[in-house]
Amino acid sequence: MIRFGLTGGIGSGKSTIVALFQKSGYPFFDADAIAKQLLDKDTEVRAAIQAQFGEDIYSGGKLERAKLASRAFCSQDKQAILNRIVHPATENYFKKVFQELEAAGELALLVEASMLFEADTAQRYTHIIVVTADESVRLQRAMQRGLQSEADIKRRMRMQMPEAEKCRRAHDVVINNGNLRELVSAWETLWEKLCARYQIPLVNPLRERLV
Ligand code: ATP
Repeated sequence: MIRFGLTGGIGSGKSTIVALFQKSGYPFFDADAIAKQLLDKDTEVRAAIQAQFGEDIYSGGKLERAKLASRAFCSQDKQAILNRIVHPATENYFKKVFQELEAAGELALLVEASMLFEADTAQRYTHIIVVTADESVRLQRAMQRGLQSEADIKRRMRMQMPEAEKCRRAHDVVINNGNLRELVSAWETLWEKLCARYQIPLVNPLRERLV
């Protein structure tokens, strides 16, 4: 089973590529969403988070995300501590899920992980795709969503690995400085190349069985 990993900085176009990938019918996972679930529900993860970031980080049984963000994203050391707690739990989760999907006869899947390299998970994947765009373009796109301030976005950008380093480590890079039509075309070209390289159909042959 081919395990594709997709990463890129804030506003680079990961979610847009995921939407295009999902047309193929192969399974998709959002590593950030899985990590969030584990932070909320996994008892060992919760205990370790409280020990490192304060008892009050859960309130009424719920993780206070803003508190965790302010305490964990204030330095690379703190972020590394957070990664060391969340990483083994997500690793176990993916190990189990990959085994189940392989046993079910799946040929490929894609995981989107914004911190794929930072969390040291590259070895989980057969093939890593980085989507990137110039910082000014990413900032403008991220701000257009109106969810975070410019200062917040810039702070998070500084915590992420530089784009050039991600591109150096990737098996393939999608440059997303153009319009959406150009991104669609770049993705379609890449997907055809990947399917040919790994000898998998463009559309999941199990799809009809699953829906
Ligand atoms: P984040 O990590 O911040 O969640 P992301 O990498 O998932 O971001 P997207 O959500 O795919 O990035 O893209 C950010 C915003 O930019 C979205 O509103 C998306 O529709 C838009 N966008 C992405 N690519 C393009 C493009 N080529 N042209 C115009 N808008 C784009």
